Amino acid sequence: MIKFLDLHHQYLSIKDEIDNAIRSNIESSSFIGGDSLRNFETEFAQYLQANYCIGVGNGTDALEISIEALNLPPQSEILVPANSFIASAEAITRTGNNVVFIDVDQNTRNLNLESAKNKLTKYTRALIAVHLYGNPCDMKEIMLFAKNNNLKIIEDCAQAHGGKIENKSLGSFGDIAAFSFYPGKNLGAYGDGGAIVTNDKELAKKARMISNHGRIEKYNHLMEGRNSRLDSIQAKILSVKLKYLDSWIKRRNEIASYYNSRFIEFTKSIKLPITISGNYHAYHLYVIQTNERDSLREYLTKSNIQTGIHYPISLPKLDAYKYLKQEDNAPISINMSNKLISLPIGEHLTNKEIEEVADKVIEFFKN
Ligand SMILES: *Cc1c(COP(=O)(O)O)cnc(C)c1O
Repeated sequence: MIKFLDLHHQYLSIKDEIDNAIRSNIESSSFIGGDSLRNFETEFAQYLQANYCIGVGNGTDALEISIEALNLPPQSEILVPANSFIASAEAITRTGNNVVFIDVDQNTRNLNLESAKNKLTKYTRALIAVHLYGNPCDMKEIMLFAKNNNLKIIEDCAQAHGGKIENKSLGSFGDIAAFSFYPGKNLGAYGDGGAIVTNDKELAKKARMISNHGRIEKYNHLMEGRNSRLDSIQAKILSVKLKYLDSWIKRRNEIASYYNSRFIEFTKSIKLPITISGNYHAYHLYVIQTNERDSLREYLTKSNIQTGIHYPISLPKLDAYKYLKQEDNAPISINMSNKLISLPIGEHLTNKEIEEVADKVIEFFKN
């Protein structure tokens, strides 16, 4: 079986370090906050070359708290691409704002600025730039668009740890960025986890207060907040894994290049992932588009190759969002959702396995 994701394989490759990290955290018996958390926050901010990092409970909370910290007027409209995980949109509604779906680009599968321009109203206050699959959005154009229209930019980096634009890390372009450490992400904890990253001192302070009951110090609550913190034990695990992240992402890029080189002759049937030149894709997912998605998937399953679909239902078409009646906002995304298929990618795969994946995909299109 060629696995789509193999967390056990990764654990075994760093078992001693992980076991020691967990043991030392239990022995220190500092479970909330403390050195493990502070150290990871500093390391992750350094890794991204950003000024501030705040560990939170999960990626969804990171998005919600980021939006809340921006202090937008109630019922602001926030633009969000239709092809994403529901959390990107949930965070908008949960913070008392209104979701406005925008379409994606056929090639990069990331948000389409033309569509964003068409959806601007006098209530539009922010845009969520989702670096989908780890593929960097066009941040230069997005920041220009933000400046011209007085919008705040929240980067959804849940799939984009390690992605870069001209050597600058994703998460350091917008006003504030949200990361997820869900186990299957490029940098995953052993449970839920997330982080907020920003270069803005005031936003960082506000986000930290919101995530910790509105306080900076114990019992001095300056406002109402909530409880969403990154567990110390998870922070300790993430510190270990952060050291390997670049090598894991490098391997993801090798696999993607290999797949691309094998599929290049079949671009009539397969649409390959496209990255803007100068950008470094984090390849959380390797996604192709094909009209024969369902039969390809069945063929690969029969050949013992696991695949995924990200995402089978475009957000405006979800039951959760039907009430918005925004299906017309995103025709490209809705059409694309029937064609997307994610092939196995990750450091758990051997050269022989990726060769087999490519062979089977090609075999399918030859027949
Ligand atoms: C995973 C994910 C999230 C949510 O992160 P959680 O840690 O699962 O809450 C948000 N946005 C995107 C694009 C994601 O892939």
